[in-house]
Amino acid sequence: MDFALTQEHQLIKEMAYKFGQQEVVPGLTERDRDAVADRKVLDKLGESGLLGVSLPAKYNGSDTDYVSLGIVCEELERADSSVRVIMSVHSGLHCLTLLQWGTAEQKSRWLPDLAKGNKIGAFGLTEPNAGSDAVNMKTRAVRDGDSYVLNGEKTWISLSDYADSFLVVAVTNPDATPKAAGMSAFIVHRDMEGFHSAPIKGKLGVRAGNTGSLFFENVRVPIENRLGEEGDGFKVAMSALDNGRYTVGAGAVGIVTACLDACNKYVRDRKVGGEEIGRKQLVQQMIANMAAGRDIGRLLYYQVGWMKNQGLRHTRECSMAKWQNCNFAFQAAHDAVEIHGAYGFCDEYPVERYFRNSRGAMIYEGTREIHTIMQAEYEIGYRNDKPFKHMLPTWPFGDDV
Ligand SMILES: Cc1cc2nc3c(=O)[nH]c(=O)nc-3n(C[C@H](O)[C@H](O)[C@H](O)COP(=O)(O)OP(=O)(O)OC[C@H]3O[C@@H](n4cnc5c(N)ncnc54)[C@H](O)[C@@H]3O)c2cc1C
Repeated sequence: MDFALTQEHQLIKEMAYKFGQQEVVPGLTERDRDAVADRKVLDKLGESGLLGVSLPAKYNGSDTDYVSLGIVCEELERADSSVRVIMSVHSGLHCLTLLQWGTAEQKSRWLPDLAKGNKIGAFGLTEPNAGSDAVNMKTRAVRDGDSYVLNGEKTWISLSDYADSFLVVAVTNPDATPKAAGMSAFIVHRDMEGFHSAPIKGKLGVRAGNTGSLFFENVRVPIENRLGEEGDGFKVAMSALDNGRYTVGAGAVGIVTACLDACNKYVRDRKVGGEEIGRKQLVQQMIANMAAGRDIGRLLYYQVGWMKNQGLRHTRECSMAKWQNCNFAFQAAHDAVEIHGAYGFCDEYPVERYFRNSRGAMIYEGTREIHTIMQAEYEIGYRNDKPFKHMLPTWPFGDDV
């Protein structure tokens, strides 16, 4: 076992931290208050090269390992959840899943532009009446000659109004048993006729980020845009979640760290009864819990990154990291508000934003309840994973990637 971050990890950590503090934090309170997603942040993220993290150099990626993606997510979410969400949907759910399931032709066609940030990818699974129970989705894809015709609606889709391409899962065989075997995955481009998106307004958190709905009205998708075989869609979606949940679990550690950044300063500045509140034992308990969440959270996501490097199936470990780290983040943000007293209750300090943002991560990419059930099922023996038909390429990447 080697727990040390490599020099490359350190460099990427510093780079992502600087990006967050220099490109995301300025003006953030206002953007969050006014619910404005700034497209420039996305563009600068592309220019910085961070959108190509953990993708092979062959496709314009940084060639760094999968732990690096987690580190980038941690440091970016230390600035704001909205920028980590970009990494989650573009790099995790979209690009890595394309790397995992795409044919050589599909990877060469799409990944180089995605890695550079010339194109942005997103992920459409959730529907108005199918979230946790994605198998009950209604979006239909009907084969017609050399293409499929898509009809339906997806909702709560991050980057719905900014992404150029969407990894969309639809029902191709409504009579399949089990239902999961009747689904297929497609890459749908924004400029395809019959596609449009619309933003969701009035969100509790991730207010400086874009979330919305996708509408498909007789969208003709060529067969070359199907990811995996017909009927593989549910497996593609589940492996995409292994990539996305990893980024959410790593990012959650960034919220804990941001809470510590804010609280470690505040407890020394604020005096009650002539004494710094950092000297009060109940305040110390909250700080100690945050430190535990940060350290345990890192170990959980580093392990998942390591398993990705080894090419191992890691659905159980990834669910654990996502579930626990999101709990740590929410508890840390809740306590950070407490430590700031009334000042934690307004946006003069960032902790109220951490509180609202950390709540969202307990819902998306599997709710707290879904992960609880998954962990119990693994433990009791009701759930067992076999390797996917296509696994992520191991790292260091080979020539055949
Ligand atoms: C900010 C944000 C961004 C998102 N981005 C994306 C995205 O990019 N792409 C995408 O596809 N989706 C996205 N989502 C959607 C998200 O993944 C779903 O909201 C989530 O899976 C939960 O589905 P639901 O909202 O339909 O809740 P439901 O499934 O209706 O659940 C409602 C409640 O019932 C509980 N519940 C459900 N099933 C069970 C069960 N079996 N046992 C016990 N309790 C249960 C849930 O835990 C929850 O408390 C996003 C959501 C948010 C909030």
